[in-house]
Formats: sequence, structure tokens, C-alpha cells
Amino acid sequence: MTAILKEDTMRIELDRPRCEGHGLCEEAAPDLMHLDDEGELVIDVVDVDGADIARAQAAVRVCPVAALRLAGAETE
Ligand code: SF4
Repeated sequence: MTAILKEDTMRIELDRPRCEGHGLCEEAAPDLMHLDDEGELVIDVVDVDGADIARAQAAVRVCPVAALRLAGAETE
């Protein structure tokens, strides 16, 4: 099946082994992600659009270990 890029949607990707759980990303984008009770980051909104893209970009920028990235979202 051919993947079709949704132009106005980005996907938040987490490199989990890299994540150190400091939660700076949660502070930058609390509507999109949070640390659970074990200190594991949970991405609540994986595919973002509109104003959420800027919030996700802020989270990507503040991560001290570059564990987050934004990629083009794909439909199936
Ligand atoms: S800022 Fe980076 S290292 Fe910290 S919880 Fe978020 S993704 Fe993990």
C-alpha cells in the first residue's frame, strides 16, 4: 500500500532509549505529552496539526538529549 503524506500533519516520534525522563518536553507541551507514574514519557497526541505543531516543535527544541523529533505523518 502506498503511504500518502498528510501535508498539514506532523508525527511526534520518541527515541525511547535516549529519553532520560526529565520532563522538559512535558513543560513545553503539556497538552501533547506527559510523564507517567514510572517516569516514562507518554505521547498523548502523536499526530499534530495547526497550533499543536508549534507546541510539538517547542518540545523537540527543549529536549536536552534530542530524543524527540517531528516527522511527516503518513496515512495508510
Ligand atoms: S525532554 Fe527529552 S529526555 Fe526529557 S522526558 Fe522529554 S523526551 Fe525525554
